[in-house]
Amino acid sequence: MNNKKVRVRFAPSPTGGLHLGGVRTVLFNYLFAKHHGGDFILRIEDTDQTRFVEGAEEYIFNCLKWCGLEPDESPLHGGPHVPYRQSERKALGLYEKYAKQLVANGQAYYAFDTAEELDAKRKEINNFQYSQHTRNAMKNSLTLSGAETQQLLDEGVPYVVRIKMPENVDVKFNDMIRGEVSFNSSLCDDKVLLKADGMPTYHLAVVVDDHDMEITHAFRGEEWLPSAPVHVLLWQYLFGLDAMPQWAHLPLILKPDGNGKLSKRDGDRLGFPVFAMDWQNADGTVNAGFKERGFLPEAFVNMLAMLGWNAGTEQEVFTMEELVQQFSMERVHKGGAKFDFEKAKWYNHEWIKKLEVGSWKPEVKKLFEEKGIVVMDDAKFEKVLELVKDRCTLLNDFVQQAGFFFQSPTAIDTASIKPKWDEKKQLFFVEAIRMFEQSSLWQATDLEHSFKELAAANQLKPGELMLPLRIMLVGGKFGPGVFEIAELIGREETAKRIGYTLGLL
Ligand code: GLU
Repeated sequence: MNNKKVRVRFAPSPTGGLHLGGVRTVLFNYLFAKHHGGDFILRIEDTDQTRFVEGAEEYIFNCLKWCGLEPDESPLHGGPHVPYRQSERKALGLYEKYAKQLVANGQAYYAFDTAEELDAKRKEINNFQYSQHTRNAMKNSLTLSGAETQQLLDEGVPYVVRIKMPENVDVKFNDMIRGEVSFNSSLCDDKVLLKADGMPTYHLAVVVDDHDMEITHAFRGEEWLPSAPVHVLLWQYLFGLDAMPQWAHLPLILKPDGNGKLSKRDGDRLGFPVFAMDWQNADGTVNAGFKERGFLPEAFVNMLAMLGWNAGTEQEVFTMEELVQQFSMERVHKGGAKFDFEKAKWYNHEWIKKLEVGSWKPEVKKLFEEKGIVVMDDAKFEKVLELVKDRCTLLNDFVQQAGFFFQSPTAIDTASIKPKWDEKKQLFFVEAIRMFEQSSLWQATDLEHSFKELAAANQLKPGELMLPLRIMLVGGKFGPGVFEIAELIGREETAKRIGYTLGLL
């Protein structure tokens, strides 16, 4: 690496929510930049107005914030290269200037074909592509005379500017992940660079802006690899290959079963989120997000980092600082990484245990509020969360595992008590209520002791009584130690819950 300051960019088009692949691209950009003490830039590539989706840009900002991947420069943060939205950058005149320069140098040309003419061609020729093999039969500045072209321009006839792909040239570049990549130019079509409305297409804008923003490394999804030869040629024509950023095309994230790219549909089919946060589609349907599913951002980021990268050691749980310190492009795998939701949950569980309760307590409180569970005593809340956190994989699990500490269960699994229930046990629990009400000590160990003594006095094995007691206190067969539960919910509530279930049996 030369000693230019590292500058990377994430350049999304605001067309929808960010799925796993998108966030991982952000993450690798961010880690690489921070590892090298560089800058991470967020540029919004919104030149295709037909694909513009309301709310998508805001979603991207929020998502980066949630993940802790704050850009150094962006439409929100500003920076030395404002504006950071391509639709606003059009006014700088750069796109038009460079498109004209390419035409003047014979590296691009004006094409005047109307939508109808193009449609007719598509009908006539299967898989029609506007390219060196077909351009001679089209209406463009290569087939028209100079005077004819000038006349159309003067008359204001709509045109696009297309790149003139050279014949039979091997366009090569060095990808940081794949090594040398080569494309034969004869196989590439003449992509539109400037549209009839004066907006650049992605191909022109990405090159012009990467240059203008002094981007040194450009990481993006592997689906952009086929576009690379156009970009390399544009770099060569406009700014010279020495100025070109180093490319890395990140491998795909694959579906857990079978091969192929992980898609929204796989998430729906297999019941896991593929978006970072909930994304609401125009038709009102929602693509589920990891955040709303109960993931901690630390776990989400950790899990994503390990999808296609490893530190070369056994370590799996990484803080952001550790990732920044250890990240290197050399350890990014060439092949796709299979997504595994069980593993994702494992990371979350690890992070729930690793972080201080206080750091995720507010999130759990919000979940409780949504369920109408009121928490008055914050010290008790913290104690309860500490007690049950080992049992929770997702933050939402706390509703079941901890909610009953603050609200009497309404659904009691009496079906699990009934088969072994008899008069003797009924009488025992009536006595147990009295015992609990009168007990002078209220510590789990004391309660356990008194309960067992009472069982012995009634010639009952404590083992037969624990499950009914648990179900009475929490509603079902879950939760931490049953006497710890009694200690925390208190004397009155313990007696009340036993009495309530006895009434049902
Ligand atoms: N605007 C492109 C996208 O939405 C970015 C591709 C790139 O990073 O060059 O994915």
